[in-house]
Amino acid sequence: MSLYKKVKTSHGDGSLLPFKESRVTSASLARILLKIKSNPEALDNIGDDVLRVRRNIDAQLLQEVEPVLFTVNLPVKDGTYKWVAASPPKLLALLLRRCAAYRSMFEEKLLLYPSTPESPWGLIVYLDELTPGNIIRPDNARKTTVVYMSFLQLGLQLRREETWFPVACVRHCVLDRTDGGASTAMRALLRETFFGDENFSHGTTVHIGSSPMLFFAKVSQVIADEPALKEMWGWKGHAGIKPCVFCKNLVAKSSNLCAFDDSGYLKDLWEPRVDMFDSASDVELWAAFDNLMTQKTMLGVTKFDKLEKAVGMNCLPTGLLADVELRAMVSPSSCRYDSCHCYYQGLAGWEMNLFMASCSELGITFNDFQQYCEAGWMRPKACKSSSPKQISTVAAKFESFKGMAQDILVILPLMRHFAETVIAPTGELTKQLQSFDAMCECVLLLQQMKHMCPVPESLRQLLKREQQKHLYFFVAAYGQEHVKPKHHYALHIPSQVESDKILLDCFVHERKHKELKQLINSGLVNDGLEKTALVRVIHSNIDALQSGNFANRLLGSFAASSELEVASW
Ligand SMILES: [Zn+2]
Repeated sequence: MSLYKKVKTSHGDGSLLPFKESRVTSASLARILLKIKSNPEALDNIGDDVLRVRRNIDAQLLQEVEPVLFTVNLPVKDGTYKWVAASPPKLLALLLRRCAAYRSMFEEKLLLYPSTPESPWGLIVYLDELTPGNIIRPDNARKTTVVYMSFLQLGLQLRREETWFPVACVRHCVLDRTDGGASTAMRALLRETFFGDENFSHGTTVHIGSSPMLFFAKVSQVIADEPALKEMWGWKGHAGIKPCVFCKNLVAKSSNLCAFDDSGYLKDLWEPRVDMFDSASDVELWAAFDNLMTQKTMLGVTKFDKLEKAVGMNCLPTGLLADVELRAMVSPSSCRYDSCHCYYQGLAGWEMNLFMASCSELGITFNDFQQYCEAGWMRPKACKSSSPKQISTVAAKFESFKGMAQDILVILPLMRHFAETVIAPTGELTKQLQSFDAMCECVLLLQQMKHMCPVPESLRQLLKREQQKHLYFFVAAYGQEHVKPKHHYALHIPSQVESDKILLDCFVHERKHKELKQLINSGLVNDGLEKTALVRVIHSNIDALQSGNFANRLLGSFAASSELEVASW
């Protein structure tokens, strides 16, 4: 109860303060603080006194979390920036010490998959940027990259937000000034993870069961959207000549290099046959980076710039790829293209827009689809996002689907039903219907995979075939000019699943972001934002894990109309 002890105030009569020391019982104070905790925005605009209370609470939270924090001097243009993040081994020990349910679940997994130096657990690193504020008025000054971690051995428990512990956040205005940007920051974080005074490479002490034990881990996956992966590793990314560093012979269409390659070795983004790509190994990627470091001192600026573009990497001496010692713990091949960003925040929305543009040639518009969505569709009770009617109304207004991943999940089954029952009977748009149907099959397979661990080989092979079919049909329907890098990135997902035995995606992190946004929004000053936001979100994670129930359970009842059984996934 240290969090809820009475708070002194210098306020005159105390009439506006719920915390006046002499008149509020501990139980009342606890209730008020819990209400504030569930709705931190309530503190906004109330006044300096209450904000002072919030700072007091922050100070008390810090007392508990401070032992797991560490400080790094990031090299910035005008000196150094003291960046505060959490040591993942120390934070894990804290979570296991404080959260009995989490400890119990962790112990079960350790019995199944012992953690040893020869067989360390798989550490999964997630990073992404989030922008506090609201959708209409985002607070770009506080745009923040956040890092969560968890372990592959937790299996389907990875679908739960609380199993991803927050280890760092850093504002973009800081990264923009940092030499090597996010790559330098991630290098510092991972060095602490594997070479700090408590670390996963030599084993960190955790208390599970009756006696302490050593716990070992190394990075097995880094999951993020492509821009975040690019920033972390210092790649040129989707806009470069080599949009995917893992495929040596993939070149951007803008380079026009394929036109000069009579051998047929070089491939474009619209190549659907994954077996035609020449994979780059970790050793080759590290060697390419090391060569850049050597050539940097020997070539002129223009020639070196061309070399970087040809390799698809930036030469960042302070970045992750430059750390030879870390290579044993984290490698480029641990990167995972995320199905959530590839499909739900990319391919699905684009194709729906292209499909509706084709429908307009038949005189069928967004407004027609909106009317279709206004029928009495019912949704599963578990579905908390906007209704089909709301989503289609916005789409009709802008004549485009620009929704979040959840919106796409809601609207896509109805669009498929619309395509099958309204468009297909016209006998028109055959190619577009084939492409749309294949894309929907891919999404459906991904949805099935999410609930499986291990994912059956047959399902993985089916996804591979459907993806190839989809890209082939897509090019036939819309042409090569509409193919995006995400079409290619998605082709990597089946091999990722083969390696991981589970489909990792970022839906869970997108949900978790909501909480961090709320915490950043509520009365934080920019000075020291990283530390205060991290402390708050770690404390919130501890609370969630303490009340967590990790047993298998049903998701709840579904209320569906007969039509929805056809249309819903
Ligand atoms: Zn590739």
